[in-house]
Amino acid sequence: MSTSTTDRADRLAGPGGYEGCALCAEPTPRDQEWLLSYHDDEARGVASREALLTLANGYLGVRGADPEAVADGVHYPGTYVAGVYNRLSSEPHGRPREDESVVNLPNWLPLTFRLPGQPWFGAGYGTLAHQHLVLDLRRGVLLREAVVTDEDGRRTTLRQQRLVSMASPHLAALRTELVPRNWSGPLEVRSTIDGRVSNGNVAAFAGLCGQHLEQAESGELDAGEVTWLVARTVQSKLRVAQAARTTLRADSGTRVWPRAVAEPGVIGREFLIEARPDVPVVVEKVVAVHTSRDRAISEPLLAARETVRDAGSFDDLLEAHAESWKYLWRRFRIGTRDGPDGQLPINFHMFHVLQTLTGHTADLDVGVPARGLHGEGYRGHIFWDELFVFPLLSFRVPRLTRALLGYRHRRLDQARRLAEENGRRGAMFPWQSGSDGREETPGWFFNPRSGRWMADNSRRQYHVNLAIGYNLWHYWQVTGDLDFLASYGAELLVEIARFWADLVDYDPADDRYDVRGVMGPDEFHDGYPDRPGQGIDNNSYVNVMVAWLLARAVEAHGLLGTEYCGELWDRLDLSEDELADWERISRRLRVRFLDNGLLAQFEGYERLAEFDWEHYRARYGELGRLDLILEAENDSCNRYQVAKQADVLMLFYLFTAEELTGLLDRLGYAFDPATIPPTVDYYLARTSHGSTLSRVAHSWVLSRTDRPRSWRLLRDALVHDLSNRGDSTGEGIHLGAMAASADILQRCYTGLEVRQDVLWLNPRLPTELRALDLDLHYRGQWLSVRIDHQEAVLRAVPCAASPIDIGWLGTTTYRLAAGETLRLPIGRQPQQGVNSPNPSVST
Ligand code: BGC
Repeated sequence: MSTSTTDRADRLAGPGGYEGCALCAEPTPRDQEWLLSYHDDEARGVASREALLTLANGYLGVRGADPEAVADGVHYPGTYVAGVYNRLSSEPHGRPREDESVVNLPNWLPLTFRLPGQPWFGAGYGTLAHQHLVLDLRRGVLLREAVVTDEDGRRTTLRQQRLVSMASPHLAALRTELVPRNWSGPLEVRSTIDGRVSNGNVAAFAGLCGQHLEQAESGELDAGEVTWLVARTVQSKLRVAQAARTTLRADSGTRVWPRAVAEPGVIGREFLIEARPDVPVVVEKVVAVHTSRDRAISEPLLAARETVRDAGSFDDLLEAHAESWKYLWRRFRIGTRDGPDGQLPINFHMFHVLQTLTGHTADLDVGVPARGLHGEGYRGHIFWDELFVFPLLSFRVPRLTRALLGYRHRRLDQARRLAEENGRRGAMFPWQSGSDGREETPGWFFNPRSGRWMADNSRRQYHVNLAIGYNLWHYWQVTGDLDFLASYGAELLVEIARFWADLVDYDPADDRYDVRGVMGPDEFHDGYPDRPGQGIDNNSYVNVMVAWLLARAVEAHGLLGTEYCGELWDRLDLSEDELADWERISRRLRVRFLDNGLLAQFEGYERLAEFDWEHYRARYGELGRLDLILEAENDSCNRYQVAKQADVLMLFYLFTAEELTGLLDRLGYAFDPATIPPTVDYYLARTSHGSTLSRVAHSWVLSRTDRPRSWRLLRDALVHDLSNRGDSTGEGIHLGAMAASADILQRCYTGLEVRQDVLWLNPRLPTELRALDLDLHYRGQWLSVRIDHQEAVLRAVPCAASPIDIGWLGTTTYRLAAGETLRLPIGRQPQQGVNSPNPSVST
C-alpha cells in the first residue's frame, strides 16, 4: 500500500535529523512499520497529536501531552480510568441540563526543571531548539528527545520514555534524562501530581460545568520518596488514588537536596543538584492508580501505596510491559507485506484498539467508548459502535467480547425502565450510555456555524438495541458459547424482541407491520420536512434488522429448549403465543423500495429533494457536517436525499447477499442481489461521510463489486485520525472506525464468516494488497492464516482443541485438526475428492 501516512506525523527524520538526537537516526524498514514520529511543535494539531500519542492499557489512559504541559488551550494533559464517570448540572446559555462524563483525573505526569531563580521549563524557561517524539507501537512506549536552550546560550538535552503498563494495569511510568551540554551549576527538578484538573478537552462543551473532582487528601511516605493524592468525584463519589515514587540519580559523588512540595491541590518533590556537563541526571517516576471501582482491594489509597511500593524500576516495568505487547501483537498483528507505508497505519489502528480494549478490560464493568481512553469526546459515552469492534475481538480474544456484552446485560434493568418510561414492553437500550445505562443523549447541541442550539433527537436511534442483538448472536456463532447464550444472551434477545414487537404497528390493509418514528444510522434525518424531530417511518435497515432479530429470538428459544432454560422462560414469562407473534412479525415487516426498485432508506425518501452536492462542495469544501451547514442557512437535511453515513448499506455490511436475499424472501419480497451494486452507487453518491464509520462501511460493501474503490476508501479510513483530517481527533480517537478498518482486512477481504458451525473463507484481495497474514481464534483453535493472490494457507496451531470445519469459496468443506495445515489454491478449481478424505491437509 503506498500511502502517505500523514502530513504532520512525518515519520522518521532520516539522515538530515538533528545532530546528536538518538531518535533522528534512520530506522530499518522493519522498524518503520512500528514508529510514528513527530518533529514539530506548532500549536495547530497539538490536541490531535496528544490523542494519537495516548498510552493506555484498557484500564488507564494517559494523553500524550508533554510532562511539563498544563491545560492552556493548546496542550491538554488528560488521564482517564475506564468507567470512571460523574454527573454534573450546568446551564449553558440559560439551558439547564445534566450530563454524565468520563472524568479527567489528577495529572500524574508533571516533571520539569529550571535553573534557580528562573521560571520552570514549560512555564517560561528556555525554548525548544529541537523536539522529536516517537511512538513505538511495538513496545507501547512514547519516546521524546528535545534540546532546550536559554537566553544565556545554555543547552540541555531532555530525553523521556513513558509507558502505561500493559503488564500491570495500575502502573505507569516516566523516565527523564537531563543532560547539560555546555554548562554546569545548580539544577532544580520538580515532580508532582496535579489535582487541580477539570474537564476541558472539548471546545463544544465549554459552557458545561467541568469540575468533576474534589480534593480529598494528599501526603507522603518513605521519607518523601512516595507522594500520594486522593480525589473524589463530586456526584458518583468515586475515590481515585495516585501514588508516585520519584527517584533522582546522577553520577556518584553528586549531592542531591530533595524537598517536599505541598501546595493546594499539588503534591510532589523538588530536587536541587549540582549538574555537570554531559553527566545525565536521571529521574524516574513510577505511579500507581487505583479507584474505588477496582476489584480485590480494600480501598484505593492503600492499594496505590502497595502497588507503587512493589513496583520495580522503570527498566523492570519496561521489560514486563514490552513482553506483554509482544504477546498481544503475536495474536493481533495483521501483516500485509506491503512495507512500512502500508503497514504503519494498520499497526497504528490495531495499537489503539488494543490500548482501549485489552484483557484488563475484561475484568472491569465497562463498555466500548466511542473515543477510546484518549479524550473527552462524546463525554466517554457508549453508542452502537461496538458493532464495528466486536468481530475483530471475537476472532482473537472472545472472552473480551463476552465481558463487554456483560456491560449491556448488567444494564438490562435500566433498559427495561427506559422502555417502560416510553410506554413500551421489553428493554430499550439508550442511544448513549455511561455508568449505569440510563439514556445520556443530550437533548440539544450547539452549532458553532449559526451560534444556535439545535435539537438532538438521536435518542430515536433505537437501532442500538438491534446492534446489541446482532453482536451477541455473532459472538455465539463464532464461539459456540452455549453457556453465554443461556445465561445472558437469550434474556437480552427476548427483552429486545419484546420492545420491537411492541413498537411495530399492524396495518390490516395489507397485513404488514410498520415501524414508525425512528431514526436510522443516518443522523441527518430526524423526521420529515413537515414534522422534524419526530422520526421517520420504515427505515429499511431497522425493519430488516427487526425481522432478523425476532427470528433469532425465536431460534434461541428453540435451541435452548425448556429442559435447559425452562426457568429463564418462566422468569421472563415468555409464552408460546408471544413467540408465535414474533415469528409472524418477523415475516411481515414492511420494507419500502424506491421507484427504481432499490431499497429505500425510509418511507418517502424518494419524495425528498435532490441535493446539489457540487454547488455546496464548491462553497464549503468539506461537507461532513452538512446538518450544521444547512441549519446555519435556515435549511435542514430533512428536506434532502442525503445521508451522514451508511444506512441502508449497513445491511450489506452485516449480511452477505445470500443472507439478505433469504431475509427479504422470508418477508415476502423478491430481492435480486444484482441490485446491490446500483444501491451502493445510489447511496454513496448521497453520503457526506460525516461519521468516520461511514468510510469503513462503504469500503466493506464495495469490496465485492468495486475493489479499487473499496481499497481507496479503506486507505482514507486508515489515515483519517493519523492525518488529523478529522478535526475532532484531539477529543479522542475514532475507535469504531479503527477497529472496523482492521476488520476489513480480517473478515471482508478474506470473506471470513461463520455459518452452521463452519468457518468459511472466500478471499478477494484488492490488487494493491499483496497478501494478508493474520492469526484467528476459532472454537478453541488458533489458526495462522496466510492469504495471497495464489493461495490460502491455514495452519492450526497444535493444541488440545477439537477439529474444526473450514469452508472454502462457499462450496467445499474440510476438517482441520490442531497441528494440521491446509493449502487452498485461489482461482483454480479445488481438486476432485479433496472434500473427504482431504488430500490438501498435511500435518
Ligand atoms: C455517528 C454515530 C456514532 C457516534 C459515535 C456519530 O457521529 O453518527 O453512528 O455512533 O458518532 O462514534
